[in-house]
Amino acid sequence: EITDAREVVLQVFNNFKMIKPDFAFVLDDDLNESTAVRMYRNHLEQVLIILLDNAVKYSTKREEIHLSVAKNARYVDIAVQDFGEGISQENIKRVFNRFYRVDKARSRDKGGNGLGLSIAQRLIEGYHGKLTVESVLGQGSVFRISLPIVQKSNDSDEKAKENEVR
Ligand code: ATP
Repeated sequence: EITDAREVVLQVFNNFKMIKPDFAFVLDDDLNESTAVRMYRNHLEQVLIILLDNAVKYSTKREEIHLSVAKNARYVDIAVQDFGEGISQENIKRVFNRFYRVDKARSRDKGGNGLGLSIAQRLIEGYHGKLTVESVLGQGSVFRISLPIVQKSNDSDEKAKENEVR
């Protein structure tokens, strides 16, 4: 399935703005065009929801949460940035592990099983993309999704080839 990644970003952004009015969501979107990725729309939605839910969960009320979408020749890059509690360098290696939670006692009241990020990373890698994180304890985190863009020229090349065969 071909999905317009930018459109999914805009849709999830608008939903979070509506559902979480206590947070200041900021969209950084320099694209004026659609960005096709080969991925089920639901899967990209799911990943963005996991990342934005975490940004909300590990931030304090009223903090900004930034969502950005950009692209280069081969990849679309989506970033979710929060200015919340951040993750230490020691713990950052493990946040994508199944059932891992940084502070079990403290984060228990925030709910969750430590599964969200491992699911998100598996989904993205299943589509030949990457999900990475940078974080500074006490300052916040940035989660970056990078997904290969479906190249329009290749598609028409493929069609041209098919036609040649016929
Ligand atoms: P759930 O399974 O509901 O997603 P969870 O949030 O505990 O629960 P993950 O999404 O896998 O699970 O995250 C794993 C751990 O990484 C979290 O428990 C938290 O300690 C840390 N973490 C994730 N996102 C952030 C963030 N934006 N800021 C700070 N810590 C984070």
